[in-house]
Amino acid sequence: MTEIRVRIAPSPSGNLHIGTARTALFNYLFAKKNNGKFVLRIEDTDAERTSQSYIDNIFDSLKALGLNWDEGPDVGGPYGPYTQSERFDIYPKYAQILLEKGFAYECFCTPEELEAEKQSATQNKKPYVYSKKCENLSENEKARLRAEGRKPAIRFNISKVQKTFHDNSVLKFDDLVKGELHMDTDLLGDFVIMKSNGTPTYNFAVVIDDMLMKISHVIRGEDHISNTFKQILIFEALGAQIPKFGHLGMILAPDRSKLSKRHGATAVSEFVEKGYLTEALINFVALLGWSPSDGKEIKSIDEIAQDFRIGDISSSNSIFEYDKLNWMNSHYIKMLSIEELKEKLKPYLTKYDLSELTDAQYTRMVEITYEPLTLLSNITDAVPYFFGEDVEIEPKAQIDVLDTDVAQDVLKEFLKQAENWEFSEDNLHEKLEAFRAEYKEKGIKPKVTMWAIRAAVTGRTCGADMTAILAILGKDKVFRRIKNAIK
Ligand code: GLU
Repeated sequence: MTEIRVRIAPSPSGNLHIGTARTALFNYLFAKKNNGKFVLRIEDTDAERTSQSYIDNIFDSLKALGLNWDEGPDVGGPYGPYTQSERFDIYPKYAQILLEKGFAYECFCTPEELEAEKQSATQNKKPYVYSKKCENLSENEKARLRAEGRKPAIRFNISKVQKTFHDNSVLKFDDLVKGELHMDTDLLGDFVIMKSNGTPTYNFAVVIDDMLMKISHVIRGEDHISNTFKQILIFEALGAQIPKFGHLGMILAPDRSKLSKRHGATAVSEFVEKGYLTEALINFVALLGWSPSDGKEIKSIDEIAQDFRIGDISSSNSIFEYDKLNWMNSHYIKMLSIEELKEKLKPYLTKYDLSELTDAQYTRMVEITYEPLTLLSNITDAVPYFFGEDVEIEPKAQIDVLDTDVAQDVLKEFLKQAENWEFSEDNLHEKLEAFRAEYKEKGIKPKVTMWAIRAAVTGRTCGADMTAILAILGKDKVFRRIKNAIK
């Protein structure tokens, strides 16, 4: 049996998109499930759109998601460089083979001539296909055009290849996800495989690389289906083994349009910056097109790999439900240990001086604040009152609570009684209970009593466990804030 070899082949013209992450994941899972190899190839033939920062972002995002590649940039592998710009000496050789076989031809058309062809097609309301004007140029004509200073591109002769290998103009293949797909290849038009500057186009480089890297299965988005017909013909023209293809449905936004920035984050790194955990992201994108056999949606990447079968991938589009991702993220946040949380929350606490807290105080702060978090970044606004001497009072806390006679009375009484309290959590717990009970006897509800203290100490009307907050802040800060709140 041939070895299973799959690849993710991102073009570094942007940060790693969450949709590409899903494609990478499905390839990775398929490789894991079948003891195969997962290859990363950087498709940077379009120098103008490529940037090193995007390449770095792709590496970092894949690694952060745990989608480590078996072969590719950084780790190498047996098939030469895995970055297309470092393989530019390879492609012309194969273009030459196609020229010699008569499956490709040199095209001397200028951009202006091609534009005129396109415009006339538009005027006649016909889809544009290249006129094949240069298909049968004689050697003399070519020499004359060269002498004019024209540099030829190389075009792939679709109809010739199609006729050589098939009975009519229809090309079919069995898609692993979508079943049989077919296309009339007359509609494709002879496309450029090598540009006049000597660099390959996407459709050509991808085939040469998939062939040389012995890719057995190409799993990618359905936006590539029309490319697949072109690519199959190139494989055939070269006499190469054709990989199996599987095309994934698109990922759409909740409003059924293409997922874009206006819906929220789209790049993996953006999600991570916003405080999504990579475990949640992976689990969530796995469910965009795949469902677990036991119906349990929360699964680690290893559990998903166990259960994954490519035939189970749905052929329809998936909806990217941000709400579901948020729910999943809060679930994964709750599964972290306190030590992990302490580390993962730090990047979102940079506006505070963490050195104000001892490690034990920081631990306790995290213990009492993590549960309501949907995103790690929510911590920033959840904890300002743990830092600084004074606290900013929210208008609601001032008007609804601190401005009332009851609150003022509670605060004054608290200062009197707490003078001698030891501010350990256990002791405060006991003392506050008695304190509330006294007020209850006077007809004040326990929660009203606590509101007064909370509003003065945290500036808010709700938040984390009040006893723990008092213990973390300590008597000096608590007294200072309560005195400030007393009129
Ligand atoms: N470079 C292509 C892209 O980013 C990859 C297509 C493929 O997987 O063949 O869309």
